[in-house]
Amino acid sequence: MHIQQVKATRAGSSEMFTGTVYIDEITARNIPSKMRVNTVRFSPGSRTAWHSHAFGQTLRVTEGLGRAQERGGEVITIRPGDTVYTPPGEWHWHGAARDNFMIHLAIWEAPESGAESEWGELVTDEEYLT
Ligand code: MN
Repeated sequence: MHIQQVKATRAGSSEMFTGTVYIDEITARNIPSKMRVNTVRFSPGSRTAWHSHAFGQTLRVTEGLGRAQERGGEVITIRPGDTVYTPPGEWHWHGAARDNFMIHLAIWEAPESGAESEWGELVTDEEYLT
C-alpha cells in the first residue's frame, strides 16, 4: 500500500459547468479497475452541463443542498446522505441549490477504451430553476 500524492484541486471547466465548481480527484485507477472517485464542491447556483456516463454514475451527497434532473424528469432536491444513481447513457445534470453549497462524491467506472462520459449543452437558468 501507499499514500497517494495529493493532486491539486481543479476548477470545473466552463464547457462542462455553470458557476464555480471545484474538483478533487480521489482515485482514477487504470486497467484492470477503471474506478473513478471525485469530491465535487458546487458553489450556490452552480451545476454540471447535461451529460451521461458510459457505465452510469453514483453520487453521494455529503454536505449542503443540491438539485439534479434526468432528461425528461422533474428537478429533484438532493440532501446529505442521499445516494443518486444514474444508469449507463442516461442524460442528466447535478449541482448546488440556488442559495447553498453542495458537495458530493462522484463514483463511476470508465470503459476499457472510449469515452467515459458524453457532455452536451449547459443547463439554462430556466431549466435549473424549474
Ligand atoms: Mn453525472
